[in-house]
Amino acid sequence: MEKKRTEIASLGEFGLIDRLTGGFTVHNPTTVKGPGDDAAVIRIEGASELTLLTSDLLLEGVDFDLSYFPLKHLGYKTVVVGCNDILAMNGLPRQLTLSLGISAKISVEQLDELYEGVRTACEELGVDLAGGDTTASVTGLAIGITVLGSVAPDRIVYRSGAKPNDLICITNDLGAAYMGLHLLEREKRVLHDTANPQPKFEGYEYLLQRQLRPRAPIDVIRSLAEEKILPTSMIDISDGLASDLLQLCKSSGCGARIYLDRLPIAKETYAMAEELHADPVVAALNGGDDNELLFTVPLEDQERIMRMGGAEVIGHITEAGTGAALVTPDGSTIPLKAQGFHGN
Ligand code: ADP
Ligand code: MG
Repeated sequence: MEKKRTEIASLGEFGLIDRLTGGFTVHNPTTVKGPGDDAAVIRIEGASELTLLTSDLLLEGVDFDLSYFPLKHLGYKTVVVGCNDILAMNGLPRQLTLSLGISAKISVEQLDELYEGVRTACEELGVDLAGGDTTASVTGLAIGITVLGSVAPDRIVYRSGAKPNDLICITNDLGAAYMGLHLLEREKRVLHDTANPQPKFEGYEYLLQRQLRPRAPIDVIRSLAEEKILPTSMIDISDGLASDLLQLCKSSGCGARIYLDRLPIAKETYAMAEELHADPVVAALNGGDDNELLFTVPLEDQERIMRMGGAEVIGHITEAGTGAALVTPDGSTIPLKAQGFHGN
């Protein structure tokens, strides 16, 4: 009899993860939360804080292109991508390990550069490099990052706590990193056959910075603690606002309305979208690579959120069964759709 073969595309990324992780039982009472949120949650006996654990894999040719991604920036971005999953639990990153699959074309100097970026990010975020693994790769460069973090038990935030009428907040403008990627891809194509490439990047610094050197929104996590605001739910925006908001709604068992005229989109993103004949709203909703946070707070925290700064209200949570949709200025609603495999 022929063996059954199911294409991964038929399940999708999240369907696949559910299928693979579904049949596991928890063996340790210290495991508070397994797969399904931005990080696993562990209660270590005697510790006053909960431990958070997350890992990410970045692959050359899938997550980054070394022909235009400076290694220093790649090291920095890897740490940001890893730490954002800890921030998304309202925690702070503490230790990380970094594992490398190194292809033959990579030099020692390039790895020095990669680690320079890692070091800068570790200093900025207050994280310690605690180890890793090094092996050869027969394909491209592979970087795996695991981050440990901590959070007080009364400050932890899951994806699942959003309630109807909660405000939906995001930590920065969206779509710029996606436009930065398009710009880099365009220059790569244009310069492909040029002997001495001189890419034209003047005026595009903001978009490039959002793609090549994203910041981790750790200041927002600190401000929330200072202002004594406890979000009801949180997720990091890595796959695009639409996909990540849908994930949050699914975990929380609720719907959402976000408003088109509230979506923060940088003027540079609009300009680039016009140049590329692309839709800036699609970039903001489905672009990916934003490396920001999406969180919800009770309606009564509205003033405190506005006073705090660093986060913008883009909509509100609605009852279960109402779906997640974008509301245009004329009042029509467009259902949000998730995009496929983005990775990270
Ligand atoms: P993120 O985008 O925040 O890094 P993902 O969307 O990759 O998170 O993963 C969602 C959840 O599924 C996380 O809790 C993650 O730990 C878990 N997960 C992802 N891939 C696997 C896997 N191969 N095996 C077990 N758990 C996984
Ligand atoms: Mg995440």
